[in-house]
Amino acid sequence: MSDLFLLLLLVVAVGIGWLLGFQARRERRLSHLAAKLRREYFLGLNHLLSEHSDEAVETFLRALEIDSDAVDTHLALAELFRRKGDVGRAVKVHQGLLNRNDLSAAQVHLVQTGLAKDYLSSGLLDRAETLLRDILSKSSAQQRIDALVLLMEVYQQERDWQNALYVGQQRLYLQPENPRLRSHLSHYACELAEQALSGGQRQMAYDYLKQSLSFDAGCGRALLKLTTLAIEDSQWRPALRYLKRFQKSNPDMLSEGLASIVEVYRALERPKALVKVLVHWHSTNPSATLLIAIARYIKAEEGYEQAHAFMIEQLNKRMTLRGIRYLTELELEQNSALQPQSTRLVANALQMVLDTKACYQCGHCGFHGRQMYWQCPRCKEWGAIKPIRGIEGD
Ligand SMILES: [Zn+2]
Repeated sequence: MSDLFLLLLLVVAVGIGWLLGFQARRERRLSHLAAKLRREYFLGLNHLLSEHSDEAVETFLRALEIDSDAVDTHLALAELFRRKGDVGRAVKVHQGLLNRNDLSAAQVHLVQTGLAKDYLSSGLLDRAETLLRDILSKSSAQQRIDALVLLMEVYQQERDWQNALYVGQQRLYLQPENPRLRSHLSHYACELAEQALSGGQRQMAYDYLKQSLSFDAGCGRALLKLTTLAIEDSQWRPALRYLKRFQKSNPDMLSEGLASIVEVYRALERPKALVKVLVHWHSTNPSATLLIAIARYIKAEEGYEQAHAFMIEQLNKRMTLRGIRYLTELELEQNSALQPQSTRLVANALQMVLDTKACYQCGHCGFHGRQMYWQCPRCKEWGAIKPIRGIEGD
């Protein structure tokens, strides 16, 4: 009985062995064609990891000849080269793909778009523009959008705001509900308004600023510029209307409107109304800049005691280094002879700390600095830079 059992086990084991062997032979046959391709890819990957980029490109291009379905892989490879700053090799991969005559129309579009990005990132803007205009003339709606996005970048780099606005409007026709696109267009119109003002064309500047608001009704930059123009023309009521719109649509930027609101109310000789407006602005979005401005007006109108009590009350609600710095300044101004040396040292130390702190930060890439920019100098995003909040900020 036990011999029969052992024999049975042996037969089953042989059977399993044969089946496994059969499977392995089948897989070997199936993978024979792909083996060479895999070797090329591993070789290419090895070159890539060893930073032998030239050899990697050559190997991957060889693999491309074997595998006609590897277009996506090569597009990804080119993208990788471009991101590494190796644009020459990205161009080589894209041109290698374009030399093939078996690509579908959609694949040709992807390769051409990739090549346009290569030209754009290496500053060959004329070549990028020519290629993208060619893509535009024979594309589907989505492909046109891709090309228009890149054309906007080309004109933005050239600071050709007229053409940037023109192609952006073509894109807006295809993407009417894209808020980021609307924001970009409103900034292009603001740039054109600045150019018009530099050329002494004030009415044209007004027109561009109103066009900016047609793209983005809450564009803080356009509203502040319109306020400035209205103030220069002594148009106080329109200036106040623009500031009211600015306050509603840009609650995180109110400190930027401080100088204008002060100027308007000063011209109207209504200091009490100004304090009321500033308190309202501060209540909607607390800011150290607004707080200090309010305290200065309280001091001028009602005296030191009221201003001091106001600062203490507000700082207990929301602590900021700038607020404390102003409080020490206020106390030192009142009677410097009676202040202990430590207050003066604290005031100086706070100022030294504040001088090293950034005031603005880009919400897109994190760039920070002490100056306000409408376009981030690092990532080139529009309207992404805002005052930094919190104890060390505004
Ligand atoms: Zn940025």
